[in-house]
Amino acid sequence: MSKRDADAKKGADLLRSGATMLPQACPDCKVPLFKLSDGEIICPSCNRRVIFVKSTEVEKVVAESATTSQFEDDLQKKIAQIRERMVSTKNPEDLEKMAKALSSLFDLLEKVRRRKA
Ligand SMILES: [Zn+2]
Repeated sequence: MSKRDADAKKGADLLRSGATMLPQACPDCKVPLFKLSDGEIICPSCNRRVIFVKSTEVEKVVAESATTSQFEDDLQKKIAQIRERMVSTKNPEDLEKMAKALSSLFDLLEKVRRRKA
């Protein structure tokens, strides 16, 4: 079974057990997050818990293990904003543009994290 199939199966199992799929994706692997019946939010692909941090205009997703600097924080906000728009857009061209923007933001985020480590 490929990793993608395994993730899809895990997602299906989670849904069957009463979990709901969220519009937000994992900050690391970009797989959709699931909210369990007990309210816990997890990434089925990384197998770890993810915490939501409320900010003034957007709800951003922060991995439990991640520490945030201001820049990292700003990047994550931007990613969350684009992701929200991606969820509602019906235009494939817009979707592609947003996906590209997301991909470069993730690259940047990755660089910031590596520099700090
Ligand atoms: Zn993940």
